[in-house]
Amino acid sequence: MSEPSKKLDQNNIKRMAELLKDGNTMLDLICPKCGSPLFRLKNQDIYCGNCQRKVVLLKDDQELDTYNKMSLLSETNDILYSKVMTVTNLIKSETDLDEQSRLIKLLYNYLLTIEKLNSIKKI
Ligand SMILES: [Zn+2]
Repeated sequence: MSEPSKKLDQNNIKRMAELLKDGNTMLDLICPKCGSPLFRLKNQDIYCGNCQRKVVLLKDDQELDTYNKMSLLSETNDILYSKVMTVTNLIKSETDLDEQSRLIKLLYNYLLTIEKLNSIKKI
């Protein structure tokens, strides 16, 4: 493994300059992954210009726990939406009525589950 500072290449410095120029704020915090300074974007997200990704800062274990649960719910939601798409496409090409009925029940269950997930996320 190389020193985190070695990953601060020319492109990264250029990106950091761009972030500052665009009115974002450099924080006194570093990216846990690459050691590069983090920025607070105008939309309040915390961002690493080097990794080019959003960074989530957590205060304590409880916040980490909540974050992990929310991430799981969000991932489940994405999977369910992709299933909804798949089943919808199957219904589109299905000519057998019994099979359509089976697919619609499945679709309905996916949608119900998505609705439940969304109600949990709002808590
Ligand atoms: Zn980083």
